Amino acid sequence: MKVVTTREDLRAARTGLDDLGFVPTMGYLHDGHLGLVRRARRECAGVAASIFVNPTQFGPGEDLTSYPRDLDRDLSLLEDSGVDLVWTPRVEDVYPSGFATNVQITGVTEVLEGARRPGHFGGVATVVTILLALMRPRQLFVGQKDLQQSVVLRRLVADLGLAEEVVVCPTGRESDGLAMSSRNIYLDDAHRQAARVLSTALRAARAAYASGQRDAATLRGTMEAILAAEPLADVDYVSLADPDTLVELEGPITRAAASLAVRVGRPRLIDNTLLHEDDPGLG
Ligand code: AMP
Repeated sequence: MKVVTTREDLRAARTGLDDLGFVPTMGYLHDGHLGLVRRARRECAGVAASIFVNPTQFGPGEDLTSYPRDLDRDLSLLEDSGVDLVWTPRVEDVYPSGFATNVQITGVTEVLEGARRPGHFGGVATVVTILLALMRPRQLFVGQKDLQQSVVLRRLVADLGLAEEVVVCPTGRESDGLAMSSRNIYLDDAHRQAARVLSTALRAARAAYASGQRDAATLRGTMEAILAAEPLADVDYVSLADPDTLVELEGPITRAAASLAVRVGRPRLIDNTLLHEDDPGLG
């Protein structure tokens, strides 16, 4: 496994790797990230990952400086997963002196996370454009865990032609349903127990949908009632939206993305599931 830092070393290491699958991350890896690597391994001849805590996607007061980091452990997990190339840039390798580019995506960035975290998706779109321009993969692998991000990145790649395909991989979960996240490390025991309420609420929406409930407000209400019963959960939003446009749905639905953002003690957790008739399970 080659590990490179500068753009120049990346360019040299990239040579000769055709049919590349790319998994960008912010590190502090868990099995959800490794699920993306395993999928890339199956679908592509070569696999590259990046580890970069991108400052421009954090807002003031968010956890940029305290974001968990463990590079040695990450590299050994990636090596054990069969990754060929890892880019671990410094801030100046991604944003060279005089950097003045800003990639903005309209529409799908303006709701949900985008509405609550101003500048977040501008930061994501800009960094992923740079990563893809330098890495030049055939396929980009992202997680459904960050549903809106996956929608934004599909738009970016389709608009700018930065890869052939974006592959959205299912959410890796702990055995009790909690979606894996680097930020779960911030949960103390009581809040870790309480954090199960997100997947419990999503499962309840899925069960209601499976038994024929199609009314958007009723499905939203099912999730809200479960979240409201957990005193340690501070709900930011409960959304039932079109899975492609992320526009909130009203009345009878056919397919939908149910998404939650809930502060549970220190971390603000997000999770989601897709409701549609060929049900893939709690993704
Ligand atoms: P992050 O390091 O949190 O920026 O995530 C890097 C990539 O891993 C993104 O495409 C995320 O959507 C994906 N990811 C994060 N958590 C999970 C999870 N629990 N299951 C699947 N993919 C995930």
